[in-house]
Amino acid sequence: MAKTLFEKIIAKELPAQFVYEDAECVVIKDINPGAPVHLLVIPRKVIPMLSEATDADRSLLGHLMMVAGKVAADAGFGAALRVATNNGAEAGQSVFHLHLHVLAGRPLKWPPG
Ligand code: 5GP
Repeated sequence: MAKTLFEKIIAKELPAQFVYEDAECVVIKDINPGAPVHLLVIPRKVIPMLSEATDADRSLLGHLMMVAGKVAADAGFGAALRVATNNGAEAGQSVFHLHLHVLAGRPLKWPPG
């Protein structure tokens, strides 16, 4: 199977600005930020999208959420942030390797567009 864009970034075959890495995930800055802080929390394991996660991914998904909170706090926005994942092209997903968007640093209206 061809590598996903994020697998290539994780393998350092493509450049990205890394802000955090551990055994299970990496966090990079989004190349087209939608907020002053726009980070992507990406598992090393390729899960195409949330709806394809299984019970075996339960711990990993929890870890991704914890890391999302940590990196937002490290950026100075521990109390005002949004964590989102787009599931499927109709929901705006463009990279089919599960990732959490972490947005902060501006007023975040609800619902998003
Ligand atoms: P999605 O649309 O799948 O929810 O989110 C994919 C995100 O990846 C988008 O916000 C997009 O700006 C970001 N992105 C796409 N290509 C690259 C890239 O090459 N490097 C980085 N750092 N982000 C990317």
